[in-house]
Amino acid sequence: MHSREHRLDESTRAVLARIARERGTPCYVYFVEAARSRFDLLQEVFGGRFRVSYAVKCNPNGDLLTRLADKVDTFDVSSIGEAQRCLRFGWPPQKLTFSGPAKRIGELQRAVSMGVGELVCESPWELAELERLAVDANVRVECLLRINPRRIPRAFGVQMAGKPTQFGIDEEDVPDVLAGWAGWSHLNLAGFHIYSGTNSLDAEAIAENFALFIQLFERFASQAGRPPRRLVFGSGFGIPYTPNDQPLDITRLAGFVNPMMDRMRDQHPLLATAACVLEMGRWLVGPAGFLLTSVIGEKRSRGTDIRMCDAGFNNHLAAFGMMGTVIRRNWPMWRVTGTDTEPESEYQLVGPLCTTIDVLATRIQLPPLRRGDVIAIGSSGAYGLTASPTRFISHPEPREYLVVREDGTSKILDVTEARA
Ligand SMILES: *Cc1c(COP(=O)(O)O)cnc(C)c1O
Repeated sequence: MHSREHRLDESTRAVLARIARERGTPCYVYFVEAARSRFDLLQEVFGGRFRVSYAVKCNPNGDLLTRLADKVDTFDVSSIGEAQRCLRFGWPPQKLTFSGPAKRIGELQRAVSMGVGELVCESPWELAELERLAVDANVRVECLLRINPRRIPRAFGVQMAGKPTQFGIDEEDVPDVLAGWAGWSHLNLAGFHIYSGTNSLDAEAIAENFALFIQLFERFASQAGRPPRRLVFGSGFGIPYTPNDQPLDITRLAGFVNPMMDRMRDQHPLLATAACVLEMGRWLVGPAGFLLTSVIGEKRSRGTDIRMCDAGFNNHLAAFGMMGTVIRRNWPMWRVTGTDTEPESEYQLVGPLCTTIDVLATRIQLPPLRRGDVIAIGSSGAYGLTASPTRFISHPEPREYLVVREDGTSKILDVTEARA
């Protein structure tokens, strides 16, 4: 199951080499069956205890999402632009939730008028604006109160909680917000939402975090005195971004989480009927995607073998270490052209941009790289193309391809979207 995260199997490699040869580089490639099987794995290990909310911002490609939609309960959008995309793909607005710390008034208004499933409310002022808009439109708005917890397990790499933050309503302030809820005539408290940490590979830490979520859900559901319809567990499930990272063991995680969920339902009647939702992005589609880049130039400079590639941080900000990482580390990558039997050498890999920070890999061991060879960068199905500054230096934008299995063969579909 996890092989794709650690090594490249022969059939994947062959498909990637074929796409590079026939369609050119740079391009993103997403393997649909690989992504779909991750949804299935979740249902299997958690025994149907959770529905899935897909964070659209991680990969908004419409053709990919369309092929995953039957496994997705809700799409969480972070802007009205993402919401409109989802409507264009044919999903009803009820299937959307709308989160974000600085929703413009115009966005809230559009969300109310299109009938978005739930508004994820992150500030008290947002509730006041929503009430006003809901009264004007004469509709009831379903709200999920996003809680910013005071505590988060230390093992979470990125600390989001316990500090001042724009995300969610501080745990300490939630009682006042709930106490004032009766003052809203057109807002319905549909449930609670927490997303306080991301990209953890540590099953214990995630389980510990879920235990904190459950405590908060119990406490605030009791205060509200009504059963919440939905409880959103911002999952924080991570994926390996270096060859040394061990994938998150979700079977082990489920071993901790499933009994906690059953206990919550048994012991807290108010929470017995809530739909519990895992909200995430990268874990679902990250491992199913690759960026393909070709070696454009070769150089030996003062003892270092440098290879210049056609993809830079303009195409994949995260793989170049510029998206929330302090120290750039080499991502998992493979040469997909040639044969595997040649001895490896050490390279520095750079992109085509005229700036010294355009570094993809340092001291990486790969089979011999010559002009025209193609490198596949793994873990690239999430936070790739649309998380990158593609306009910088006006290089062509990478195309996007889907690989779908049909009649036992891999079919390649060009799903590149025109820029709006
Ligand atoms: C970005 C985001 C997610 C997804 O995070 P991943 O690390 O990709 O799983 C989930 N929920 C919210 C509210 C987000 O903003």
